[in-house]
Amino acid sequence: MGTVTVVGSYVVDLMSRTPHMPKVGETVLGGPFRMGPGGKGGNQAVAAARQGSQVTMVTKVGKDDFGVIARQNFKRENIDTSYVLVDNVESTGAALIAVDNNGDNMIVVALGACGKLSAEDVAQTEEAIKNSSIVLVQLETNIEAVQKTAEITKRHNIPLILNPAPYQEFPREILKAVAYITPNETEATLLTGVKVTDEGSALQAAKVMYELGVPNVIITLGEKGCYYYNGGEKGILYQGFKVQAVDTTGAGDAFNGGLAHALAEGKNLEEAIKYANAVAALSVTKVGTAPAMPSKQEVADFLKYFAKD
Ligand code: AMP
Repeated sequence: MGTVTVVGSYVVDLMSRTPHMPKVGETVLGGPFRMGPGGKGGNQAVAAARQGSQVTMVTKVGKDDFGVIARQNFKRENIDTSYVLVDNVESTGAALIAVDNNGDNMIVVALGACGKLSAEDVAQTEEAIKNSSIVLVQLETNIEAVQKTAEITKRHNIPLILNPAPYQEFPREILKAVAYITPNETEATLLTGVKVTDEGSALQAAKVMYELGVPNVIITLGEKGCYYYNGGEKGILYQGFKVQAVDTTGAGDAFNGGLAHALAEGKNLEEAIKYANAVAALSVTKVGTAPAMPSKQEVADFLKYFAKD
């Protein structure tokens, strides 16, 4: 069994429907209300754990009920919570999500405790990182935690996946420690300055990231799948699976969790990318983020079905 360590965010999603978006100063009676686990780090950990990887989550929650629920949720998913740290001052992070009758949303993410994950916190996890088959990190915590993760993985020669989401500026030096980078079109554009819209522009952006030191660049392209580049003239487009999409939030998280699992298990990169595309495609057929992550069996059945074509 592969071991995956995820260093990243956990927030609780607090979602309400609203007949219309409130104006400044207005209170709207909305509903129904739904609460669930969220945050890119937590979602990616769940995606990998449901595929059967042994996952350790490195994050920070508050000394509050949401922090207790976070730990219970992770345990239910068989995720190791030894490094789910507690901040004595900040509350557990929360995403305040309003969805109107058109399906449009407005979201405020208060990172709270997970925004306080420090370099010293990550340094405490060196043992877990050292024993991982692969490490997965995003940009939804402060950058010093990402930087420390990169430093430790490099020291122990552990492959690191950087999902640069949501995009924020970071020292380019970090990229020299990254084995796989997985931006979507928006993040690839922000990172490289090349507007990514199709295969041609994906190649140009991928070349920039490759030149910055990342040997494997994977740009996700929504329903089109993803574009892989590892040097040379051109990359490869891996087509997405055709499914009936009902909610694409969390697709990128499913992709990254699926990729980390497949690589940790020893699949070669081509197989791992196909596996990640399958995990992500299945996740968009269900509503929600972490709760929408498919099981190992669902992915196996799905891949078997498509193999018949
Ligand atoms: P994105 O973050 O939108 O680039 O999506 C990440 C990954 O999710 C893509 O690389 C696809 O594998 C998958 N995906 C996203 N949207 C769809 C869709 N509508 N149908 C099938 N797969 C999708």
